[in-house]
Amino acid sequence: ADSFDEECDYLFKAVMIGDSAVGKSNLLWRFAKDEFRLDSKPTIGVEFAYRNIRVGDKLIKAQIWDTAGQERFRAITSSYYRGALGALLVYDITRRSTFNNLQKWLQELRSLADSHMVIVLIGNKSDLGHMREVGEEEGRKLAEQEDLYFMETSALQNVNVEDAFLRMITQIHRINT
Ligand code: GDP
Ligand code: MG
Repeated sequence: ADSFDEECDYLFKAVMIGDSAVGKSNLLWRFAKDEFRLDSKPTIGVEFAYRNIRVGDKLIKAQIWDTAGQERFRAITSSYYRGALGALLVYDITRRSTFNNLQKWLQELRSLADSHMVIVLIGNKSDLGHMREVGEEEGRKLAEQEDLYFMETSALQNVNVEDAFLRMITQIHRINT
């Protein structure tokens, strides 16, 4: 059996959210690439990927959902969030509007998601420093105010991607087991 089929101790669901084209799908591909099984639920228009992670002596299977573009129309349904224990909330450091829209995403999370959800705020595209419109300190400050974890990442250059997902997954594990 390959590692995907190993017996896992826990299965966690988490979701990718944030404006269109901020890099959600690229972040997930990057994270899931090694043990990759993309699957989809065409009926509700989502895709998801799995990765197994060992935390201590436990094997966790993280099932991470990605939109198939519904965020463009602000048409993510409650089934997307149902049962999710974590979220990666992503903006693009080169587009101020994607940072300004975070409040809308947080409102949606607070109305549709579990109140104990672990949320990691991600400022993606850190490789495009010369086009930056949102300072790292602004991201960090918002995260502090809203009680979120925070990281800047580059899906393109594979900077901090693994760390961001692992931070979410280990924190979910701490809270829920
Ligand atoms: P989504 O709509 O949020 O899923 O965004 P995508 O993952 O489809 O990415 C949108 C665009 O941004 C694509 O052209 C990607 O190649 C680009 N992109 C994603 N992540 C990065 C990154 O870290 N750096 C750079 N320079 N481009 C990125
Ligand atoms: Mg996408």
